[in-house]
Amino acid sequence: MTDFDYDFFVIGGGSGGVRAARLAAGLGKKVAIAEEFRYGGTCVIRGCVPKKLFVYASHFSEQFEDAAGYGWSVGESHFDWNVLVANKDKEITRLEGLYRKGLSNAGAEIFDSRAELVDNHHVRILSTNQVVSADRILVAVGGRPSAADELKGFEYTISSNEAFDLKELPKSILIAGGGYIAVEFANIFHGLGVETTLIYRGVEVLKNFDHDIRRTLHQTMEDKGIRILCGEVISEVVRSADDRLDVTTSDGKNLKVDQAMMAIGRKPNTSGLGLEKAGVTTDGAGAIVVDDYMRTNVENIYAVGDVTNRVQLTPVAIHESMCVVDTVFRDKPTKPDHDMIATAVFSQPEVGTVGLSEEQAGKKFAELEIYSAFFRPMKHTLSGRQEKMIMKLVVNAADRQVVGAHILGPEAGEMAQLLAIAMKAGCKKDDFDRTMAVHPTASEELVTMYQPSYLVKNGVRIE
Ligand code: NDP
Repeated sequence: MTDFDYDFFVIGGGSGGVRAARLAAGLGKKVAIAEEFRYGGTCVIRGCVPKKLFVYASHFSEQFEDAAGYGWSVGESHFDWNVLVANKDKEITRLEGLYRKGLSNAGAEIFDSRAELVDNHHVRILSTNQVVSADRILVAVGGRPSAADELKGFEYTISSNEAFDLKELPKSILIAGGGYIAVEFANIFHGLGVETTLIYRGVEVLKNFDHDIRRTLHQTMEDKGIRILCGEVISEVVRSADDRLDVTTSDGKNLKVDQAMMAIGRKPNTSGLGLEKAGVTTDGAGAIVVDDYMRTNVENIYAVGDVTNRVQLTPVAIHESMCVVDTVFRDKPTKPDHDMIATAVFSQPEVGTVGLSEEQAGKKFAELEIYSAFFRPMKHTLSGRQEKMIMKLVVNAADRQVVGAHILGPEAGEMAQLLAIAMKAGCKKDDFDRTMAVHPTASEELVTMYQPSYLVKNGVRIE
């Protein structure tokens, strides 16, 4: 027994914090966790989970159209935004309940309150002003949307937080950004029938992804009817007399829209957390600086997930938490392996990717073999939809290791997850070649591309 109230105090009840608290409590440690909003955090409450439900909702418009080629006539259809929002709310309430139940079943004490550090061993529970002591502390407070507060009229814009709970579906929306959130929401709103414009400061959306995926997704989104403005940003937003928004862009365009949404990245949620009182170092972006074991510069304080601003993905935060529990409470020092993290963008079509893009690999390896297939998915032969699918493997010619895999098309995220196992295991292209195909599937392309489409030498494409 220690002299502290708790062995482990977790600040933040998102994916990372809840996992750490539950596991540590399950080991018999005296654990408390504090969350100021709702248990489940960004992912469950206003991120991945509701987003994916909205993605499903937005698919139906195209599915109704595609049905015709298969002989179905779908009657008049009507979408009710309020039904979707209410059903989404029910589901996240159910999930939040499961998170809380998991914590209490494991024996963790739950505080529904903001908590701030008083020093390196003390935490203030703001709802009661109580100060408790803890041997070890984990900070897992996540991030929040970057506020473009220098933008004139910023107060009229929304972020993804508000997009999930709008009172009514806008007739038109302007979304700023070209990353995960902007691209996913542009497709969601378009699929739900909203006139959608994306405004992105760069040349092509999804900057760090493989160029074939970016170009084809960008084109497909435009072909669907999403307007994409590149090389521009919003310069001013004004609320007009008719309660709509007048938006001016840096190129001098004037747009009239019902909503303007900013999706320009997320920042660590560290302000006002008392980190300086505890002596915890942050970087210029406000992120908590940690070592390979997620330990901060203060020996008994750890941090995981988005608050460390390394890889902003839920499964990474969860994995980091499991490593912290192994390191601290199981006497098994464990580092997370951040290499080859598979990721998906739930755009339409979807993106699934593992490892290096052709450009990144071209900088790292002298010679690459690129295997790629562009084709129309079988479903679209009868539906008549013109969308193309991409399967692409990036192979280091020197040892034939598959160092990148990039997919654009239905279920790309599911495929990326499975490919990640093979790639993590260091599979060579020859392993892919001797794997039998599953027929007829789209993913069989991944094991039947026997000849390289082209080579890349010293970063330059050779036909
Ligand atoms: P991203 O980092 O993905 O994208 C941010 C976008 O905003 C980029 O296109 C960036 O441009 C642009 N941008 C940044 N600053 C400005 C500015 N001042 N003015 C105009 N544009 C700007 O962030 P998101 O907000 O989309 O998402 C946050 C994180 O959440 C993601 O990085 C991802 O890790 C995670 N996430 C994951 C999802 C998934 O796994 N499916 C879904 C949603 C979010 P540029 O490209 O030029 O830098």
